[in-house]
Amino acid sequence: MALSDILGQAKPIELLKKSAAAGRVASAYLFHGLSGIGKRQTALNFAKALNCAQPVSTAGQTDACDACPSCRKINAGVHPDVITIEPAKDVIKIDEIRQLIETLSLSAFEGRFKIAIVDEAHLMNDRAANAFLKCLEEPPAQSVIILVSSSPERLPDTVRSRCLAVAFKPLSAAQVEGILKTRLASDAVPGASARGRKKTTAHDININTARLARLSMGRPGLALKGELPGAGGEDFINILSRMASGVTQPSWEDKAAMASFLDQMELFLRDLLVMKATGQPGLLLDPEFEKQLSQLARYVPEEVIIETYSNMNKVRGALVYNPNKAIIWNYMACLALKLNINKIAPKGF
Ligand SMILES: [Zn+2]
Repeated sequence: MALSDILGQAKPIELLKKSAAAGRVASAYLFHGLSGIGKRQTALNFAKALNCAQPVSTAGQTDACDACPSCRKINAGVHPDVITIEPAKDVIKIDEIRQLIETLSLSAFEGRFKIAIVDEAHLMNDRAANAFLKCLEEPPAQSVIILVSSSPERLPDTVRSRCLAVAFKPLSAAQVEGILKTRLASDAVPGASARGRKKTTAHDININTARLARLSMGRPGLALKGELPGAGGEDFINILSRMASGVTQPSWEDKAAMASFLDQMELFLRDLLVMKATGQPGLLLDPEFEKQLSQLARYVPEEVIIETYSNMNKVRGALVYNPNKAIIWNYMACLALKLNINKIAPKGF
């Protein structure tokens, strides 16, 4: 895969191909935008374009050939001049940043550039960010750092201000659908699932490609990884019902399940507001809940939906700090009651 193969990100791709052609490369970039829209893949493809042995140049833009030994090594994750750092257990520690600094300080072995890609860079802890800042202030020659982040606001200003920011946008539903279909043609894609665990088959997904594209809200990567909200819908409604009926024992096994629930709640509230305002099921992102949504839309005032949305987003922000499951459960139960979820709760809870 080369830069030109990244779909739906025309602006950043053009910028990067032009800078590769002109040899005007920033010492640090910040690729930011929602998860699952191609930031990390673009970073890898940019690394390929910068170090490619047989780059493809047209009209003042340079791209990788994706076939030479350098490109193949980057694809396989074994290029000695390209390192990728990822968070382990939601944190990037100082040791990893030290390793990055050491690697960048050496001369390139094979390529023209030493390139470090830091995925989910906002998960650097304070010590790591401080160590990293020194590297940004005095970047080693011929080195390029690419920070990838879905929450750039959580990076220290001092780090952010030293990077060239490159914004990535969500894709259109049609573009996402095209990507899902292409991937389905080449391999079996793990699909959406209840709480992102049980993987569905390629056949299941083929049937639901259009729905998945809508649910992804422009983020094909989430659909491909099976992390979409809206999957496992029955489970979601059951959890809401348990909350509204006074069950105090949280149903979520872990933080990931909690985050998945909140994603689904966001989608649900969005659709509830659409149903309330328009009454048109055709505009729902997830028609699976059409019946419940049209019932609820009769009971719940618009301002309550908006207020619930805002409160739910505060809860989502608190997830970063490993909050107590029971507290979040009880808080969400209050929100569920305000939404009159008990009016649509299935019997038996
Ligand atoms: Zn190449």
